[in-house]
Amino acid sequence: MEAPRSNAGAARVIEVHPAELKARARIAAEVAKAHAAVVDRDGRFPSEAFEEIRRQQLLGIMVPKSLDGEGASLAEIVDVCYTLGQTCGSTALIYAMHQIKMACIVRHIRGNAAIEKILRRVAADQLLLASSTTEGQTGGNVRASEAAIGREGDLVTLERKATVISYAMEADGIVTTARRAEDAAASDQVLLLILKSDYTLERLQGWDTLGMRGTHSEGFTLKVRAPADQLLVEPYEKIHAQTMVPYAHLTWGAVWAGIAAAATAKAQAFVRHAMRQSNGSMPPGAAHVTQAVSSLRTLRGVLSAALQRYEDIMNDDKAVTAIEFQSLITLTKVQVSELALATVMSALRACGLSGYRNDVEFSIGRHLRDILSAPLMINNDRILSNLAAASLMAPLPTSIRG
Ligand SMILES: Cc1cc2nc3c(=O)[nH]c(=O)nc-3n(C[C@H](O)[C@H](O)[C@H](O)COP(=O)(O)OP(=O)(O)OC[C@H]3O[C@@H](n4cnc5c(N)ncnc54)[C@H](O)[C@@H]3O)c2cc1C
Repeated sequence: MEAPRSNAGAARVIEVHPAELKARARIAAEVAKAHAAVVDRDGRFPSEAFEEIRRQQLLGIMVPKSLDGEGASLAEIVDVCYTLGQTCGSTALIYAMHQIKMACIVRHIRGNAAIEKILRRVAADQLLLASSTTEGQTGGNVRASEAAIGREGDLVTLERKATVISYAMEADGIVTTARRAEDAAASDQVLLLILKSDYTLERLQGWDTLGMRGTHSEGFTLKVRAPADQLLVEPYEKIHAQTMVPYAHLTWGAVWAGIAAAATAKAQAFVRHAMRQSNGSMPPGAAHVTQAVSSLRTLRGVLSAALQRYEDIMNDDKAVTAIEFQSLITLTKVQVSELALATVMSALRACGLSGYRNDVEFSIGRHLRDILSAPLMINNDRILSNLAAASLMAPLPTSIRG
C-alpha cells in the first residue's frame, strides 16, 4: 500500500480521517513486524519501525490542530497502540509511552508559549519523547521524587538517578518528574519537558530482560540545564490523576490487548493447521483457543468500558479525580494486564510444543516474554495494596444494569 503521508517536516496535515489513520498505523505495524524478531533478539531500539512511524507522521497526531497537529482523540491513539501491539510489543509500548507524555503536556500546557513551540516541532519534525519517573530508591512509586529542581537565573537544573528510561538514547526529548524545590516534600512534584540539548545521560545500567527488549530501557544519571519555561505550571499531582494515569493505563492496555490478540491469532492458525494435518479432527489443545478468545473479549470489554467512562468525564476535574474513577482506572490496569497474560498463556497451551519452541511460525515465546512485563509496570501488588482501604469501604452494586 502506498504511504498516504509525505515525509516528516514536509507539508502539514490538515484533517485526520479515522480509517486513514488506521491505514497509516497498519503500514507502520507491518514494518515493525518485519523487524520484531531481530529487535527482540538483539535487545535494540526498533529503528526501522520508528522510521516508518515518522514517515506516517504518527508521532504528532495528538498535537492540537491549532498547533499544526491532527488533534487525534484518545480512542484513535489507543487503536494505533493496539495495531502496533499486534506486531511488535516493544514498538507499541514505546509509541504508547510517547503519547502518554504528549497527553500530559497537551492537556496541561496552560498557554505556555515555549512548550507550544516544542509541540509544533513534534508535529513538524516528528520528535520522539521518552519518560522518566522511576528513580533511585523510590522505584515504581511515581508519586514520589527524590531529585529536586534547582534554579540558576532563567534556567532550571536537575540531577536524578533515573534507573529506567526506555529508548533514552534514541529519544529527542524526555518528560521527567522532579521534586518542586530542595525544601519540597517528595510528593510535591512538577513535570519538566527537556530536549536533547538540555540534558546529558550517563549510563548506570543496561537492559537485558526477558521481554520488551526493544524498549531498550537502560538506567542513567540524567543531568539537566534547561529554560525554566519548559517546566509545566500545573502541579504534577493534578497531571497524574487527570491525565497520566488514565492515558497510561488505557494505552498500555491497548498494547497488551494487541499482544494478546497476536498470540490468539497464532493459536487459531495452529489449530487450523493441525486440523488440516489430521483429516479435520480437532487437536486436544483446541479448547484453549476458546479460552484465549473468551479472555481477549473480556479484556476488550473492560478496556473499552474504561475508555468510554474516561472520555465521558475527562474534562470534569472533579469526576476524574474522584476516588470512584481513580479506583476504576487503576484496577482496569490490573485486570487488563492479568487478562492479557491469561490470554497469551491459553494461546501457548493451544499451540503446545509448537508454541513453546522459538524456531517455528507458531512460537508464542516473544508474546509471552513481552506480556510478562504487564503486571510489573506499576506493579499490580502496589496498586492492589494501595486500594485495600478504599475497597473495604466501596459500595457494592445493587443491580446488574444501570
Ligand atoms: C518494559 C518496561 C519499560 C519501562 N519504561 C520506563 C520508562 O521509560 N521510564 C520510567 O521511569 N520507568 C519505566 N519503567 C519502570 C516502571 O515504570 C516501574 O517503575 C517499574 O516497573 C517498577 O519496578 P519495580 O518492580 O522494581 O518496583 P516496585 O513497583 O517498587 O515493586 C517492587 C516490589 O515491591 C512490591 N511492592 C511495591 N509496592 C508495594 C505495595 N504497596 N504493596 C505490596 N507490594 C508492593 C512489588 O510487588 C514488587 O515485588 C519500565 C518498566 C518496564 C517493565
